[in-house]
Amino acid sequence: MALERIYLFDTTLRDGAQTNGVDFTLADKLAIAAMLDELGIDYVEGGYPGANPTDSELFGADRRLNATFTAFGMTRRPGRSASNDPGLAALLNAKADAVCFVAKSWDYHVKVALETTDEENLSSIRDSVRAAKAKGREVLLDCEHFFDGYKANPKYALACAKAAYEEGARWVVLCDTNGGTLPDEVEKIVSEVVKAIPGDHVGIHAHNDTDQAVANSFAAVRAGARQIQGTLNGLGERCGNANLVSIIPTLKLKPEFAERFEIGVSDAVLKKLAHVSHALDERLNRAPNRHAPYVGESAFATKAGIHASAILKDPATYEHVAPETIGNRRKVLVSEQAGKSNVLAELERVGIKADKDDPRIGRLLEIVKERETLGYAYETADASFELLARRTLGKVPNYFDVTQFDVNVEQRNNAKGERVTVTMAVVKVKVGDDNMISAAEGNGPVNALDLALRKDLGKYQKYIARLKLTDYRVRILNAGTEAVTRVLIESEDENGDRWTTIGVSPNIIDASFQALRDSIIFKLVKSGAPA
Ligand SMILES: [Zn+2]
Repeated sequence: MALERIYLFDTTLRDGAQTNGVDFTLADKLAIAAMLDELGIDYVEGGYPGANPTDSELFGADRRLNATFTAFGMTRRPGRSASNDPGLAALLNAKADAVCFVAKSWDYHVKVALETTDEENLSSIRDSVRAAKAKGREVLLDCEHFFDGYKANPKYALACAKAAYEEGARWVVLCDTNGGTLPDEVEKIVSEVVKAIPGDHVGIHAHNDTDQAVANSFAAVRAGARQIQGTLNGLGERCGNANLVSIIPTLKLKPEFAERFEIGVSDAVLKKLAHVSHALDERLNRAPNRHAPYVGESAFATKAGIHASAILKDPATYEHVAPETIGNRRKVLVSEQAGKSNVLAELERVGIKADKDDPRIGRLLEIVKERETLGYAYETADASFELLARRTLGKVPNYFDVTQFDVNVEQRNNAKGERVTVTMAVVKVKVGDDNMISAAEGNGPVNALDLALRKDLGKYQKYIARLKLTDYRVRILNAGTEAVTRVLIESEDENGDRWTTIGVSPNIIDASFQALRDSIIFKLVKSGAPA
């Protein structure tokens, strides 16, 4: 039997950006979009073009995605024509594959919030869909407050959805904007909607205010909807949106869905899901939820006792799915063998071929374990892990030695009598037989150190000339008895490739320096620089 397709629509960059404490930069948005694209998400919603500088830049940027990149915005304002609405114009002129309009579908909101008539709201939907279609865009309509609206006035809510569908919108998305609808209500209402609009044109956008956004998404699918909207790690305003990180493995691994439906996420890519989830948290500089379903560190952790010994005999005894399928790990007083397979999986992920019987794998495992207790997190810092693995398994040339560095921070009055802080770094580097000294001023100690270190690497300078730091994140950890600083640095090269390196030390400058040095060495290895 042919499988039916379910489409996944990610709104991490739009609805997820409403999360308290989340503030995406352009670099964040581009990196997250690339992550979603690699995952096989069908639609990536970038944000509101024209609404703020970051989103306007994002929609102007070169993105190279397979996913349908979607711009979000309002339908034309009441009382204006589609051709005379600056908001609509900005949306239609954005470099996007699709446009997702949001429109009222609750008559109460049309009257109170929009202060217009029911008929004018329907015309606004029709005109906007038509205008976007004329611009060659795929069109989606988010029906705001659809479920509350349907309960109050089913005829009108449905009329809004039908207006968009009949005008040629590819998808009509039913939004539980307040997040208070329960699964049985969602199933009942979607069943009614699909009598008027084919299910393969109906989407669900659920918020998590009763902790049932994921359940509501599946209820809609059961009733016939074929697009699910959600965010990575359930980011979103208030209690968040439907969590795609829970939805994806459920669709892929639970027979009820897996036997009927297919999605754009392959089995191979599913193995990276835990990594993607953690990488997003690292980017947001927050600790991953250990208890997150499927991907949390504790999702497959069993404390010793009867469970643990049964799991060692046959993991299926106490696990609902196999942790490896989503890139997670079983945790039962980690046996040597289990640990080794984790390291082998990591090596495969970064593209290093290794033989599982190679004794150096065991040595690498020991080093990784030792360093992780000190605060290193190699799951995020791919480039540092790759260097560590290459050093342990083979060779990384000794390109250069930093024989000494010195960072000086001075606060004083300048000639105008203003209080200023001046930072200067001096780095001594040995490349082959050449000794080099570079000095640089920076806006802070790490910046000065970075500039001085990369100022002159002799014959290697050409490889790092266009290397730049795109992100710098610091977290204070409690490893053992003392607080240590973990620094993660993201770098980018002239090809737009990005990688992350790590440093850990009680001293923030030391930690930063380790990460900076790893980043440069990684770039030299990557470029095939001769020893
Ligand atoms: Zn929403």
